[in-house]
Amino acid sequence: MLDFSLSDEQKALRDLAREFAQNEIAPVAQQLDRTGEYPFEILKKAHKLGLLNLTIGEAYGGGGVGWLEACIVAEEFAAACAGVTTAANATELALTPIELAGSEEQKHKFIPPIARDGSLAAFCVTEPGAGSDVASIRTRAVKRGDEYILNGTKHFITNGDVAQLLSVLAVTDPEKKHRGMSFFAVPADTPGITRTHMGEKMGHRASDTSEIVFEDVHVPAANLLGSEGVGFKVAMETFDRTRIGIGAAGVGVARAALEASIKFAKERQQFGQPIANFQGIQFMLADMAMKIETARLAVYYAAWLTDRNLAYAYATAIAKAYGSDVAMQVATDAVQIHGGYGYMADYKVEKYMRDAKLLQIYEGTNQVQRIVIARTLLKD
Ligand SMILES: Cc1cc2nc3c(=O)[nH]c(=O)nc-3n(C[C@H](O)[C@H](O)[C@H](O)COP(=O)(O)OP(=O)(O)OC[C@H]3O[C@@H](n4cnc5c(N)ncnc54)[C@H](O)[C@@H]3O)c2cc1C
Repeated sequence: MLDFSLSDEQKALRDLAREFAQNEIAPVAQQLDRTGEYPFEILKKAHKLGLLNLTIGEAYGGGGVGWLEACIVAEEFAAACAGVTTAANATELALTPIELAGSEEQKHKFIPPIARDGSLAAFCVTEPGAGSDVASIRTRAVKRGDEYILNGTKHFITNGDVAQLLSVLAVTDPEKKHRGMSFFAVPADTPGITRTHMGEKMGHRASDTSEIVFEDVHVPAANLLGSEGVGFKVAMETFDRTRIGIGAAGVGVARAALEASIKFAKERQQFGQPIANFQGIQFMLADMAMKIETARLAVYYAAWLTDRNLAYAYATAIAKAYGSDVAMQVATDAVQIHGGYGYMADYKVEKYMRDAKLLQIYEGTNQVQRIVIARTLLKD
């Protein structure tokens, strides 16, 4: 059976997310973009409404729903502000390795204080010398008695400066290369941790991006998630799931850019008529719509596979790369349709263009997604 309809529960969730995003996020999106202020109050309200950590198990204080629901909400949030969406989703990203690798006891210990109480977490994988090549991270975790001692530097960490809990990937056995890596749940106030905001960025300015330095940080051995050596696999399994949310955010940004373009094209008069009358503009609008509709289908399909635990890595890579490429293309066309006004900060479309760019870069660049896709295509 093939069914493209959303259930009543999914429609209700979409409507709730849309109302919240349009009433609470959209009106302040440009101000947050200008000031770079972190949206603490917005996230608190979103948490109260049950719009955060949707895929984390209910038993641990999460939403207990699937990736399809998470993608529906991500599209709505990103149509209002991609920066707030990044801030909102970073916690779920950080909790996913705990849910994937942690023992029942660890999940009950580490996840509820974040997911149930609406606190924040950060996913700490990237380092100055290790971005796409996750296997080359150098942060070390050395076991001493019933503790691990962590040393190293993580950077580009979303929520890094505001999180209460850090999920940290570190090398426990350098000889074993990527099979010698492990994940740790580390309270952010542990002595030896220094967190520094990384400064101005092109877009997603409502989200925090920080560098985190670990200097002789003592972490109880009980905070090792699962067993030693599974960290790299857990990081990859995390990305295989969470990157659909980036595709969904791409659909949201692109949708907002199209809506702004339609409105502008109907209002803007040139040559004695609205520019929407010109076929050159109509074709651009039609192309934007085609890309958005196909990107949403790609996202929903990937989420559907993930929720059924069917082979999904290929589909989520397509959804992430395509959804974010569409966001970039559609936002660029939206600026073009707005002409000179599109270039000015008073109009929202230049923000969409800046925000779309990051979607092509983080949680695995779109080149890395193409590597994942091609690997599947070329497999015997
Ligand atoms: C705002 C922001 C927030 C972020 N949040 C987080 C976070 O919360 N946690 C976290 O751990 N990380 C985070 N990141 C890091 C992000 O995931 C990395 O920036 C990304 O994975 C790319 O790594 P890099 O920047 O080191 O680029 P590089 O890996 O150095 O890549 C540079 C260029 O080379 C290309 N390239 C690299 N390898 C190949 C290849 N084999 N084939 C073809 N092309 C290739 C890349 O696609 C890219 O175009 C964030 C980054 C930003 C900017």
